[in-house]
Amino acid sequence: MATASTCPYCGVGCGVLIQSQQASEARENRAASENREVSETSITVQGDPDHPANFGRLCVKGSALGQSLSQQERLLQPVVDGAPQSWPVATQAVATRLQQTIARHGPQSVAMYLSGQLLTEDYYVANKLMKGFIGSPHVDTNSRLCMASTVAGHKRAFGADVVPGCYDDIEQARLFVLVGANMAWNHPVLFQRIQAVLKQQPKSRLVVIDPRHQASCEEADLHLAIRPGTDVMLFNGLLCYLAEQQQLDMTYLQAHCDGLAATLSSARLDAVKPEWVARVCDLPLADVLRFYQWFANENRSLTLYSQGVNQAVDGTDKVNAILNVHLATGRIGKPGAGPLSLTGQPNAMGGREVGGLANQLASHIDYSVPEQIAAVGAFWQAPALVTQPGYKAVELFQAVQRGDIKAIWIIGTNPVVSMPDADAVRQALLQCPLVIASDIYHSSDTVQLADIQLPAAGWSEKDGTVTNSERRISRQRAVLKAPGQAKADWQILSEVAAAMGFARDFSYQQPADIFAEHAALSAWCNGAEHMNSSPEREENSPEQIESSSERAQCQRRAFDISGLQGLSAEAYQALLPVQWPVNREYPAGCARLFADGRFFTANGRAQLLPVRQVALPSFVQEANHPWLLNSGRIRDQWHSMTRTGQIPQLMQQKAEPFVCLHPDDAALLSIKAADLVQLNNAQGRMLARAELTAAQRRGELFVPMHWTAQYSSHGRCDVLFVARVDPLSGQPALKLSQVAVRPLRSRWQALLLCRQPLTKQQHQQLAGHYFARQPLAHAQCYQLADVPDTELLWADSWLAQLGLKASLYSYQSDSGEVRAAGFDGDALQWLLLWSAQKPKADLAWLDQQFATDVVAEQRPQLLQACAADNRDTDNSAVICSCFQVREARICQAIEAGQQCLDSLGQKLRCGTNCGSCIPELTALLRQHSRLAVAS
Ligand code: SF4
Repeated sequence: MATASTCPYCGVGCGVLIQSQQASEARENRAASENREVSETSITVQGDPDHPANFGRLCVKGSALGQSLSQQERLLQPVVDGAPQSWPVATQAVATRLQQTIARHGPQSVAMYLSGQLLTEDYYVANKLMKGFIGSPHVDTNSRLCMASTVAGHKRAFGADVVPGCYDDIEQARLFVLVGANMAWNHPVLFQRIQAVLKQQPKSRLVVIDPRHQASCEEADLHLAIRPGTDVMLFNGLLCYLAEQQQLDMTYLQAHCDGLAATLSSARLDAVKPEWVARVCDLPLADVLRFYQWFANENRSLTLYSQGVNQAVDGTDKVNAILNVHLATGRIGKPGAGPLSLTGQPNAMGGREVGGLANQLASHIDYSVPEQIAAVGAFWQAPALVTQPGYKAVELFQAVQRGDIKAIWIIGTNPVVSMPDADAVRQALLQCPLVIASDIYHSSDTVQLADIQLPAAGWSEKDGTVTNSERRISRQRAVLKAPGQAKADWQILSEVAAAMGFARDFSYQQPADIFAEHAALSAWCNGAEHMNSSPEREENSPEQIESSSERAQCQRRAFDISGLQGLSAEAYQALLPVQWPVNREYPAGCARLFADGRFFTANGRAQLLPVRQVALPSFVQEANHPWLLNSGRIRDQWHSMTRTGQIPQLMQQKAEPFVCLHPDDAALLSIKAADLVQLNNAQGRMLARAELTAAQRRGELFVPMHWTAQYSSHGRCDVLFVARVDPLSGQPALKLSQVAVRPLRSRWQALLLCRQPLTKQQHQQLAGHYFARQPLAHAQCYQLADVPDTELLWADSWLAQLGLKASLYSYQSDSGEVRAAGFDGDALQWLLLWSAQKPKADLAWLDQQFATDVVAEQRPQLLQACAADNRDTDNSAVICSCFQVREARICQAIEAGQQCLDSLGQKLRCGTNCGSCIPELTALLRQHSRLAVAS
């Protein structure tokens, strides 16, 4: 029978059904006898037709989950100071070293850095241990990089961190406004719901606000290619326009909101006329007016926004500029109307709920109300409850760098890749006296720096809950045994807590125990109604909040899952997806909040916030680094690629780090398509392949956020982003930096395919040169290039340094081209193509040669890098990852008469599985029809 669980990637939170074939005992024994510690398992994953987030759909990443269980780079055993250890030794080492640090430097010298990938139960235990028992407030999470500005914006406007609406609003809405969100790639299943509405409802419209013509624009009725950083101006302009057109909902405003007059006056200082908005935002006036008219005329307007809004120095103001127009029109808490923030990670919301952010204590309680702080202390019976916020992510790693933090425990995340000024973060960790990392992989850039490495169970191996972007709590369920000695994070944390002397308070036997406590805390001291009910944990009832006068002061909090506090282990096991709050008022959960116009501010009224457009970036004045740099996700990869990078199918869309730039800019810089390009600024350097595209605005560049040192020598884009943050939310500005760009004039480029990944020692031999690794089905493919400021190495000496002995070798003296291969018997071990330009090869064919014997007479063909009957190597982009259909084949099919999605699908199957490539297919069809018209 299939097990219902949830996808571990984005915040859509799709339900999946998992069928597992755990290895038979005999196969496990065989693995053990071959000294393989890993059990052989396989799973198949399908969309869950009953899950309300996706109704059976999955995107390309979710569809490939069954291939994500490679155990190759798994951390299987605890490692202390480089030596494998048993769990008792490692647990004691963590406990003792943390205690020694606390004894010498105080509890505030200890920190934790968590992840939106963790389950709520893991998060809860980590937060409780640090903020209640160790006594350090310095717990933050990578959700700080993702949604912190939305949290701050929600709290300012609504009095609580609440997403008002739900996914069902998509089917009800008729105007979709996407701001800084490439939903087609990053929230594909929700985008497919929008596409369906656009198709079925002829009067529905999609507006995309984004500096780039990204994939979502293919479906848009209007794309506003806004000047980066001017969103506040655009939405302030909209508010002014709505006021001018008398389209504000004065009845709603009078009944439920404060702050209109001040907000409007402030907006008018920015954006009194659309003409001025158009000029500042660098948009055609007609387009600005069209957007404003559409918004004014459509009550069922849904504004969906994501990192393009949040990751900015004024991210919180951008959020409030959006919330202002929804409040001012009363379009909130109503079917098809509202702001809907799209979380990037599967459990960013769950982390917010338990207090994973350094400026929240627990259960949506922050540090501003002493009675509530005391209540948490009492509930936990905490000996060392913190009362002040801790360091937010950027401050946290700066504190590590200063030496204020002496011990940091990083769980399930990769800050050496994902933080701004990433090289400084790496340096900070290198000099930190104690770095502990819990992770599923040993190879991550961060885990490699840890003094103590703890093997964690991963998706499909552990149980718990996650909360998606619409407040829906869903179960993730274990279907496989964790490999080696890996354990669930909550268990690792609880055992360390016990070793530190807190066994009684961390005696959880299963995730259900933790969830029950978390649910009970959400009810604890949560409004008068709940204060009158008796607390679940009678024996822990705190004396200090027993007096009814203190109880009466407890404010009502939005996050309330009191209806789940009595859940038995069986009921927890069977828990169906449900949207919080779940309490007496909403026993079956609640889809939309604020329908009654009541908010969680002190007076129950929503707050419109006066926000001003910040001064435009002074980048243009920065002569040395005049190019604006933006970063973001791509369709087929997830975060720092630890899981998706191992899946050959997902490495086809983009195999190397790349930089998008406008063709006219490229011409100015003498950069051609696929050239290697250097981007640099005072902080760091990145090397990437050039992609020329009119989707970029002139003067602006885009790079992917995913590549790590495991996959590329110079692909970490975050080394180029300055650690500038929004002062309110602490969220770093990862959408805007400034760099210099130039082509990299390599003296040679090469393609190396090897049966096994290069070893650490071989990697060291590459030092300084460019590489990008792409796992194929049977081999590893390395794109290599010389970096001019490093020592010049020719093919022979380079092969010798890597310890590769050629069985086949050819050298062309006129071109200097070298082709070589190594064999073990008839089994191909490696193949090298070396020339002045990037070598061309039929990678799929070459990969196949690693899966079969290559006898002597077949070998010369290898050096041609393609089959004898196929000289026409198709290196065009893979558009459909599910069926590996490349752009060139699609274009041929279009030219041959397949001129719609359906006929392309029938002919090539592209777009017929997950549908994630449909925007790209649509773009190719459009491009072709434009060319046809032009000719
Ligand atoms: Fe997973 Fe894709 Fe669904 Fe996101 S949209 S949860 S990545 S299947």
